Amino acid sequence: NSKSSEMELCSVKNDTTHLEWTGEFPWTYQLKKDNFIYFGNVSFRPNQLESMNAILSNRDVFVLMPTGGGKSLCYQLPALWGPGVTIVVSPLISLITDQVSQLHERGIFAAALTASTTAQVRKSIFDDLRATFPRLRLLYVTPERISKSAMFHKYLTQLYNRNLLARFVIDEAHCVSQWGHDFRPDYTQLKLLKREFRGIPIMALTATATVEVREDIKVQLGIPNCVTFQQSFNRSNLTYYVREKKKNAIQEIAHEIRDKYARQCGIIYCLSQRDCEVLADTLYREYEILAAPYHAGLSDERRQLTHEDWMYGRVHVICATVAFGMGINKGDVRYVYHYSMPKNIEGYYQESGRAGRDGKRSDCILYFSHADRFRLLRMISDSEGSQEQILRNEQGVAKMASYCLNDVECRRQLLLAYFSESFDPVHCNPPCDNCDYTEPAAEIDFTEHALGLVKTCESIQEEIDKGPTAQYLIKVYRGCHSGLKAGHSSLSNFGKGKEMKEATCHRLIEDLISCQVFRVHTEIGPYGQVMATLQVNKSSSAYTCLCRGQRRFCLKTRAKNSNGSTKAMDEGGWKRMSSNGGVG
Ligand code: ADP
Ligand code: MG
Ligand code: ZN
Repeated sequence: NSKSSEMELCSVKNDTTHLEWTGEFPWTYQLKKDNFIYFGNVSFRPNQLESMNAILSNRDVFVLMPTGGGKSLCYQLPALWGPGVTIVVSPLISLITDQVSQLHERGIFAAALTASTTAQVRKSIFDDLRATFPRLRLLYVTPERISKSAMFHKYLTQLYNRNLLARFVIDEAHCVSQWGHDFRPDYTQLKLLKREFRGIPIMALTATATVEVREDIKVQLGIPNCVTFQQSFNRSNLTYYVREKKKNAIQEIAHEIRDKYARQCGIIYCLSQRDCEVLADTLYREYEILAAPYHAGLSDERRQLTHEDWMYGRVHVICATVAFGMGINKGDVRYVYHYSMPKNIEGYYQESGRAGRDGKRSDCILYFSHADRFRLLRMISDSEGSQEQILRNEQGVAKMASYCLNDVECRRQLLLAYFSESFDPVHCNPPCDNCDYTEPAAEIDFTEHALGLVKTCESIQEEIDKGPTAQYLIKVYRGCHSGLKAGHSSLSNFGKGKEMKEATCHRLIEDLISCQVFRVHTEIGPYGQVMATLQVNKSSSAYTCLCRGQRRFCLKTRAKNSNGSTKAMDEGGWKRMSSNGGVG
């Protein structure tokens, strides 16, 4: 019985805890006592004690918890038990420095071994590791210490041979996976831990949870039989909104920050370094909002100072690229704006998730435009990487765009579905923009129109020898005459979708992209704008299924778009945006 239930643990559903890890263990009393004495906590959060019991029972453990869930305690507290040293691998020096100084404040022996460790500190660490009973409880290292430092390797082996190597902890474990959003090549070397230090348990922790990344982490670290602890990834204190990005988006954001978030701290994520500069400058000069840019084009010192100013509230708003990411440990972030759509849902979950780590209500507001989507696609096609990687990235953008264009389904449900977690919108509280909308919605079968769009695309392709832009395709399909190339109004499918809403066509196209019926090509248009054209991919299995009537394309939509939070996404809005986006 216990064997089979252990296997099930790995596929455990939301928030369920594992009974076999909840009982009394030899260390239970000390863990509870130390949790209070050293950390000042009066209780444990879900899965904390359970994961400690599993790791102290020498099992490999995989902890999946959303940001702010309390992952650090899961390995910091067990490190106090027993004579062995816990080795913690963490990707960033700033994260490590943070953690080590927090542990010092709590009176716990911890140290860091990184490229910036002084010779003197390094010597004292090695001296301690040689002692009969090292005083060090936790030793934090960057992954390249494991892969590249022969000296460190020697000390690890000595600890191992003396039974003083308690366990390895891989924090931010998603960095090991190429499919994750923060892949670090050095993390792949962590494979050697299981090979060279047989029997030493590994605890991997991450706030990333797509099934794919999760499985990849287990393979990469060599922990196929780990006990997995997963809890709901719903961030119940965050509220999600999506808005159409119009020309006055900066002004809208500025007014909202001044009126709703005065003196509170937040982040605005931007697509380019230039956007960061422009935004920070405008907010500061025109609205006297304490805003500062943060991106890879600034010096390390500048970035560090800005980060510190923001931590201490001297700067309220950081306008940042995704370079401002992991390692942000500020509890009272009240709002995260996305001035441009993020490159995939995973990234969005992580970036928006930096709001409200203290559990208090916070907002996540995303501005969407097709123009930004094309910019992203262009960045992807310009990037280096395998064809497969590029395709994945394009699909990531398509899925993200579907999320943005969806004006019906619960945002939490959509986000959590991406992590294979089911969520009942009844529990969406505070409600997201879509749940806050009272107009009833219905699921409608659009298969015929999906096929219509594909056939229309094929006929345009034949006419002009290249694929149309999404806007142009929609024009032809809906039978709009303005801006049409000569002769195109006599195409066989012209006007076939005249009762279709433009936004609905866009959503269908996104779905067709994500199942690879359409491929996207980007090019620079005559005015330097990025243009994305569609091409029918007849070799995809989804194409075959669609043509044979074996695949349905259904969308939930509002019966009509009256007033409400998503009214920005009405026809007028889309027309305006399409005309900015450069029509084929
Ligand atoms: P994560 O790494 O999962 O993002 P952290 O380990 O940084 O989260 O913890 C987030 C916050 O939660 C920290 O301020 C920590 O002190 C607090 N915390 C963790 N566990 C508990 C607990 N059992 N009781 C109270 N606070 C806790
Ligand atoms: Mg953490
Ligand atoms: Zn909702």
